[in-house]
Amino acid sequence: MGLERYEEFVKRSKSTLVYDPGWSCDNLTGAWRSMRPVMDAGRCNQCGLCWMYCPEGCISHGNIVIDYDYCKGCGICAVECKRGALRMEREPE
Ligand code: SF4
Ligand code: SF4
Repeated sequence: MGLERYEEFVKRSKSTLVYDPGWSCDNLTGAWRSMRPVMDAGRCNQCGLCWMYCPEGCISHGNIVIDYDYCKGCGICAVECKRGALRMEREPE
């Protein structure tokens, strides 16, 4: 896709797509999330993979903490965690 077509695509889809990392910082995606990542701290070795892969930048590095106000519940962090320290749970209705 050429740059002009990409820019047009981004402009048209801005209201519906998360097209850039950190875009959800403008939107409290925690309000519509249906699944949430839950951490088992005993399994976590602080490797930082979840922090690195989170498309919204809502996992803090070092002492791993998830900011649920901005987590959209995509589950990437749970898939990437090699230690099984993150699992996805359904949000209550
Ligand atoms: S990927 Fe898993 S083990 Fe690594 S910091 Fe995140 S939760 Fe901990
Ligand atoms: S589910 Fe995990 S990867 Fe997805 S937005 Fe939330 S913290 Fe980030």
